[in-house]
Amino acid sequence: MSAPSGRQPTRRGALGMIVRIAGAVGLGAAVASIGRWAGGPAAASTTAQREVWQLDPHKCIQCGRCATACVLTPSAVKCVHAYAMCGYCELCTGYFPPDPYDLTTAAENQLCPTGAIQRSYIEDPYYEYIIDEKLCIGCGKCVKGCAAFGNGSLFMQVRHDLCLNCNQCAIAAACPAGAYRRVSAAHPYLLKDRSENAKESPQ
Ligand code: SF4
Ligand code: SF4
Ligand code: SF4
Repeated sequence: MSAPSGRQPTRRGALGMIVRIAGAVGLGAAVASIGRWAGGPAAASTTAQREVWQLDPHKCIQCGRCATACVLTPSAVKCVHAYAMCGYCELCTGYFPPDPYDLTTAAENQLCPTGAIQRSYIEDPYYEYIIDEKLCIGCGKCVKGCAAFGNGSLFMQVRHDLCLNCNQCAIAAACPAGAYRRVSAAHPYLLKDRSENAKESPQ
């Protein structure tokens, strides 16, 4: 596949983009955290409530219940992407199902049931994968595919700009892996990075 005409990204440009996007993800988490306490759906919680629910991406086995057990529809759980870990693979096993018909963006070649992952050409042989959170239902299919054959850069998180912070999280009660726990509201995300250890989000 060739790059769109008039748009020939270089490896250097791609790396610059990677840094920008990684920064945007970190900012997004921070913004989400601020929104969570400053007027998001869970604003009814008082500031005395200093813990929120989060899932540990290293314990998650992608059973699918994050999509179906949340009291919200669609779920407050969304897929996020650790760009620093991604291989920018042409054959992304988080994007394509096993034995895809073709390595194109045609709907029949996509693993995601809602088409929430955008695939774009960077530079031969690199492709970028961006999650559209509005479309993501938190099913974890892409996470499972990425973990099976890729670098494990796709993972899921409870988004605190959406989560109601229920006293007993319905997903935590249903989770077969015990992946949910209460974390400090000051560090509400358990992020993955190159070291592949889930880390609490920076303040
Ligand atoms: S319920 Fe638990 S194991 Fe299942 S997808 Fe959610 S975090 Fe992963
Ligand atoms: S496969 Fe599921 S978890 Fe991954 S982006 Fe699509 S809807 Fe979200
Ligand atoms: S705390 Fe409630 S809203 Fe948040 S993820 Fe769990 S069930 Fe969904």
